[in-house]
Amino acid sequence: MLELTTPVQYVKGVGPKLAEILAAKGIVTVGDLLHYLPFRYEDRLNPRAIAELRAGEMATIIAEVRNSGLFRTRRMPIFQLTVGQGRARLRCLWFNATYLQDKFKPGQLIAVYGKAERDSRNGELQIIQPQYEVLGDSAAGEAPAASSLEVGRIVPIYESAGAGRVTSRWFRRVIRTALETLTPDLPETIPAVVRQRLALISLREALWKVHWPEAGESFEDLQSSRTPAHTRLIFEELFFIEVGLELRKRQQKAETGIAFQLDDRVREAIKKILPFHPTAAQKKVLKEIAEDMQKPHPMRRLLQGDVGSGKTIVSFQAAIIAIENGYQVALMAPTEILAQQHYFSARRILENAGYRIVLLTGSLDSDRKRETRRHIAQGNAQLVIGTHALLEEKVEFAKPGLVIVDEQHRFGVLQRLKLMKKSVERTEDSRASLGRTDQGGRPHVAAVEPDVLVMTATPIPRTLALTLYGDLDLSVLDELPPGRTPIVTRRISDDRSPEVWDFVRKQVAKGHQVYFVYPVIAEQEESELKAAIKMYRELSREVFPDLKVGLLHGRLDAELKDQVMRIFQKGELQILVATTVIEVGVDVPNATVLVIEHAERFGLAQLHQLRGRIGRGAAKSYCILMTGGKITEEGERRLDTMVRTSDGFQIAELDLELRGPGEFFGTRQAGMPSFQVANLIRDRQLLELARREAAAVLAGPNDEVSQIEISRALAALRMRWQQTYGLVEVG
Ligand code: ADP
Ligand code: MG
Repeated sequence: MLELTTPVQYVKGVGPKLAEILAAKGIVTVGDLLHYLPFRYEDRLNPRAIAELRAGEMATIIAEVRNSGLFRTRRMPIFQLTVGQGRARLRCLWFNATYLQDKFKPGQLIAVYGKAERDSRNGELQIIQPQYEVLGDSAAGEAPAASSLEVGRIVPIYESAGAGRVTSRWFRRVIRTALETLTPDLPETIPAVVRQRLALISLREALWKVHWPEAGESFEDLQSSRTPAHTRLIFEELFFIEVGLELRKRQQKAETGIAFQLDDRVREAIKKILPFHPTAAQKKVLKEIAEDMQKPHPMRRLLQGDVGSGKTIVSFQAAIIAIENGYQVALMAPTEILAQQHYFSARRILENAGYRIVLLTGSLDSDRKRETRRHIAQGNAQLVIGTHALLEEKVEFAKPGLVIVDEQHRFGVLQRLKLMKKSVERTEDSRASLGRTDQGGRPHVAAVEPDVLVMTATPIPRTLALTLYGDLDLSVLDELPPGRTPIVTRRISDDRSPEVWDFVRKQVAKGHQVYFVYPVIAEQEESELKAAIKMYRELSREVFPDLKVGLLHGRLDAELKDQVMRIFQKGELQILVATTVIEVGVDVPNATVLVIEHAERFGLAQLHQLRGRIGRGAAKSYCILMTGGKITEEGERRLDTMVRTSDGFQIAELDLELRGPGEFFGTRQAGMPSFQVANLIRDRQLLELARREAAAVLAGPNDEVSQIEISRALAALRMRWQQTYGLVEVG
């Protein structure tokens, strides 16, 4: 009998060689194999008769091979296969498919799946590039029973593996065998109350039905992964992710942290620095942060707020709480420009109050670096600002109290965990290196963790935020500071550039500043695109010779970048020509116009971030999306969305939809847990449900959930998290 944990090579028909191929697909155990779900199903219960086929229809046809052959056209070889049912015939074509040459023998039974189309020359129906499967070799006299997995039912279609060596058909048989030899008593790991509440079918039934649906199953539900079998398996996966995150959150909360004091003196200090009245949202969020900081457990909080919502000042206020308690604060930004910008704002806002602020970035010369490090190690520096590299370099803090991570729109559960872990090690290291000892004379390495505040500017749809950052508490700045007039966004084709230049000139005459953004730095990168350097020359010499124009892009050395940014900030430049380096966080309230050329080339999140550079002051701001050349359908949707809304959440939702979660969150290394059966977009409602149920179960034991069930769920969780997600230990 097979258990879910049995290595897959013990399934009959697998063996070590194939096991290796499967392992490359992440299939190691019988459980993995059974969670390798069909990506679609074919209705071979009611296959179409060739005679009834209509043009434009997606259909499965089961027929006999009549003849096949390769013919060459001037452009490419084409493989042609004719199949028949009685007198009716259907032609199938594959381009460049010399490999199919000896594949088919007359008389074979074959299933083809594809879109029926009319041949423009002779009006006959044909299928181009169908998916196919040889069902039986009538010549070899294969027993009909063997093909009963292939016809006369709804048939699961699997992605093949090992460069086609492991076919869909192979999966079908092996998965069938695995199901048949699976132990009858599969441990049920989802607590009974949850199963009942959601009417979940048993694991065993779900595994059978997801691979071998019953004849009456809704085909639509199957294709959209919405059958009871799918629901059960998807829910289970999400449920255990949520249980794990929730558990980790609880553990973190139980650890020893710093209980910062928030007395009148500290309150006064916080108020003193405010250059304006905080918004209600800022007050609410600061309160949440301050409450966390006062607790004797480490804070793990995500501060989410759209661009321009005023996160920076809130983080400075949190910094003051830590500093006034005698601790140091690290503020880390994703880019050097942004770190510098935080540094300038910090000096502007905090230095008058006498706080000692240092900037530590890679571009400092080594003497300055050493000097700065010493200040940090001795505890002189109270607020240390740098890039994320701050934690990678050997920086020792005398007394770290709060780590602020400005992620802007980068993500990553794992990445973040690593950061935190390091900061923990640092804490211990630095304590040890300070030679503190406890009463027994041993080095004092109390595991006191600093508080952590993560800020992100990307409005992540709530359900996803809860998963990605499920182990963090969430604060949302959902209100923009007052006095902002909505940004006007327009699309203009770039043959109307002169009108745009005129408009820019008028705005500059009113004392405002303007950004021009280009998709590439230098010309050769992509010939038809306008490049920042070339356009800088054109704009500064020909179009606006009388204005002061600056250039900013990623290849300038850091000092120069810094200088350009600074003089633009001071208003000494009227126009800044740039690449997307300005996308994150640059804050110049006097800039009111953003011209983006080749706007069709930018991603939605990127456009939204870029647009966040304007509309930061009281004056009316304009975002001009110039387009040149061909625009894809998706490009059209992006531009439309930008014109229609400035609601970051709406934009994020659409972006997610257009790009899918992988792209949206960056590559896999961004730390997204990879899912076996769930899909974060498709299954968002189930995710929400899983989250609620996970929290309810962990709140137990009670009348509903027994201790045994909880232990069982936790045991299952431990196994899953180690095997599947490879994440840090839980529980
Ligand atoms: P974020 O980091 O969330 O994108 P910032 O913190 O940079 O936003 O704030 C955007 C702009 O709004 C800055 O110029 C900041 O000084 C200003 N600002 C922030 N909070 C307020 C407020 N309560 N009232 C007026 N202006 C504010
Ligand atoms: Mg900011």
